Amino acid sequence: MKQKIIIAIAIVLFACGSAMSQTGTDDNSLFYDSHFHLTNYVQKGPTLKEFVELMGDKVGRSTVFGIPVQQQWSWMNSGEDAPRYYLDTDAPLYYYSFTDAYIADQYYELTDEDKKRFEPMITGFNPADMYAAEHIKRVLLTFPGVFSGIGEFSIHKEFVSSKIAGEVASLRNPALDTILSTAGEIGLVVILHNDISKPYPKAHTQSYLKEVWDLFKKHPEATTIWAHCGLGRVVAPVKDQVQFMVDMLDDPSLSHVYFDLSWDEVAKYIVSSDEAVAKVADMINKHPDRFLFGTDEVGPTDQEKYLKVYNMYEPLWKALDSSTREKVLKGNFATLFDAAKTKIRAWEETNKGNMF
Ligand SMILES: [Zn+2]
Repeated sequence: MKQKIIIAIAIVLFACGSAMSQTGTDDNSLFYDSHFHLTNYVQKGPTLKEFVELMGDKVGRSTVFGIPVQQQWSWMNSGEDAPRYYLDTDAPLYYYSFTDAYIADQYYELTDEDKKRFEPMITGFNPADMYAAEHIKRVLLTFPGVFSGIGEFSIHKEFVSSKIAGEVASLRNPALDTILSTAGEIGLVVILHNDISKPYPKAHTQSYLKEVWDLFKKHPEATTIWAHCGLGRVVAPVKDQVQFMVDMLDDPSLSHVYFDLSWDEVAKYIVSSDEAVAKVADMINKHPDRFLFGTDEVGPTDQEKYLKVYNMYEPLWKALDSSTREKVLKGNFATLFDAAKTKIRAWEETNKGNMF
């Protein structure tokens, strides 16, 4: 009898322990991935189960999303030369809403323990469509208990935005306002990609700085992560980029805005010199709650490649205070997503049975 009681206590303690390890940051992993694409521009990638294997014990938790657009294989444009990337062809991209059902389906394939490691995100909507917010609500109610946010979705993105069929996305479009207010109302975390400037700025071109700032200011209700700090492959840091970010961080009306350091293309700017590392580290150390690390890997199939961006940032990790480093790598992820999920699950419960 006594033995049975001890075993029962042990089971309860074990269950509590493993449940605890899925919220907060009490595991021994290197980081939580705040920016991860399971599938690529032609909707291919590993299964989520395979990705769990790849994470191993190196990556504790991760967001998971597809890519909202599909590259059309136009026979008229490239014949048998099937494109795998958006730069492989002149054919357009189009919004591929099935991605959300696919991500939910992949999530359902996981064990209950593995599910707790993921924050699936809704991406399959057209941000120029006034009906986009209804798509988001419909996805939540069709797959209750699954999603934690929306994004990464893009407004201005070098070489991509101009290739998407239909009306081009814009920061000024009221459809974007309805998306952000809906995210705020439900509690969804938003991951927004918007280049800070144009790919090859000239004297006569304007950056997107003011428009982005105004947009964020207009939507204090939406917890928003600005993907890649606005940088891109050829979208280089603007003049005084760090000062501009510090101004944003110090503006109390933008306290709901966070920055992600994902993408090797971003890491390349930050680790380009000791001076750049020191400047960025100083900014992050002064605002430890506002930055998140992510990989921005797309459908990775081997762990070494998947960990590449994390390893590229080694000089930055060394330059951060230890408590700041923990927040950037894990703590801020846990804080944002754990809070969001409580709100989202409550919204789903209240709206159960509604049609959108
Ligand atoms: Zn991305």
